[in-house]
Amino acid sequence: MSTDLYHVNVSQKKKQPKRQKHVPQRTCVVCREKKDKRELFRIVNNAEEGVIIDPSGKKNGRGAYVCNSADCWTKVEMTTILDGALRAKVEPDKKMMLIHRFQEIQNELGQTG
Ligand SMILES: [Zn+2]
Repeated sequence: MSTDLYHVNVSQKKKQPKRQKHVPQRTCVVCREKKDKRELFRIVNNAEEGVIIDPSGKKNGRGAYVCNSADCWTKVEMTTILDGALRAKVEPDKKMMLIHRFQEIQNELGQTG
């Protein structure tokens, strides 16, 4: 009678428990839409490195999230939304670098499927 139970235990082995937990959400500073954290890029104004994309999400400094929409990144470039969110002046060439980095990351993600 307990053989069935035994069977189940064996077949389930030590699989990672599925994390159906609440997915953390962040608001894109450009479109103001709430999205899963993994759909957003954290931009941080880091004391040592300046304004950079922070894929780890762990760097110190004032951060702002921008979603993976190309429209939003265009607006990052064309407007001062990012300056406001970071409370810092972000030079246009710096914004260009951020956008290039964003595109690189998008390409990398695209290649892995
Ligand atoms: Zn957005």
